Amino acid sequence: MIKSNIIADSIYTEISEKEDVSVDALKKLVESGEVVIFNNQNHKNLKPVAVGKGMKIKINANIGISPMCSDQEKELAKVRLCEEYEVDAIMDLSLGENIRQLRQNIINSTYIPVGTVPLYECFYYHKDYPENMIDHFLKILDESGQDGVDFVVIHAGLLQEHLELVKSRIIKVTSRGGSLLMKWMKQNNKENFLYTHFDKILQICKKYNMTISLGDGMRPATVIDETDAAQIEELKNIGDLILRCREAGVQALVEGPGHIPFHKIKENVDLQKKYCHNAPFYVLGPLVTDIAPGYDHITSAIGATMAAHCGADFLCYVTPAEHISLPDLEDVREGIVAFKIAAHAINISRGKDISRDRKMSIARSTVDWETQRKYVIDKTKFDKYLQRVPQDVKVCTMCGDFCALK
Ligand code: SF4
Repeated sequence: MIKSNIIADSIYTEISEKEDVSVDALKKLVESGEVVIFNNQNHKNLKPVAVGKGMKIKINANIGISPMCSDQEKELAKVRLCEEYEVDAIMDLSLGENIRQLRQNIINSTYIPVGTVPLYECFYYHKDYPENMIDHFLKILDESGQDGVDFVVIHAGLLQEHLELVKSRIIKVTSRGGSLLMKWMKQNNKENFLYTHFDKILQICKKYNMTISLGDGMRPATVIDETDAAQIEELKNIGDLILRCREAGVQALVEGPGHIPFHKIKENVDLQKKYCHNAPFYVLGPLVTDIAPGYDHITSAIGATMAAHCGADFLCYVTPAEHISLPDLEDVREGIVAFKIAAHAINISRGKDISRDRKMSIARSTVDWETQRKYVIDKTKFDKYLQRVPQDVKVCTMCGDFCALK
């Protein structure tokens, strides 16, 4: 079982006030593994965040350089944007030169919990897929803990026996970590080293209180391949790993699929909760259709809203640039806003967070633009449209003098 004293009492008090739950109830949920609190003590200016049962829905924004776009300043500007829009967590998915330096700069510059995928750095610097990869991996994992990373994605659920199961898929694999591991397993004809050395990974994560996010290397890449044997067999193995995490006293959550048609989302959330012993569920979207590139912040926010309604706890945003290019600052803003709306819609439905809507509605009823601006999620777009209203006109220009509010 997880020991509640891995988190300081002052943090429980702070979170219980934010989440409107008693400290005792919160501690029990951490002990049972149904809630995780991101809190690596080496992340000095961190504001810890709780994810899971009974907590408000949280959102994550992915940032990070790629081998083709490596401007670190642009990535740090995305961090500032995440703070401005009150994003709950950031994942640095960098793949390129000076990964550690960027990671340290991100963590040292923000109070938002930061997650990473140590596997990316490992394969970036060892492109020949050497048989002894685990030593490199453990070194990077330990450095991540020292740097203050709050949660790490570990694709330990993927096994050799799952590789056969993707053969009938349209797109065999979409997970970057999953594809790297598949190649390593095939080249070396060995079982996934993250699985065979999982105990060593647990020891390091425990040392720094890094939460493990069990990555789904076999998640489907299209709505056609959803909920197939590869996805479900990996999920069952992830469920076993959740129990090993709890036994070792390491907090853990489970990553969920990225492309799922709308009517199959409930089934997917139910399966995750069943096989993974009610561990917090972190969904990547999910996108409910594959035919809207340029609008995948919308296709995924629709899926994320449904997933959260059915019991998912943590939503990873998708930007309009998904499937085409590295997102720029504007793409990140659009992705964040879409997911803030999704999370807020579900928080309202659970009786949390309604007061802001009340204040907004009162301001709208009196056409008080200034007060409305205080409560909108996206002030940038609000200002842009408000500029269209002539200075001397006090109402929205849609109906003008016929405005019902007037
Ligand atoms: S009633 Fe018409 S003019 Fe008034 S706020 Fe609504 S859309 Fe705008």
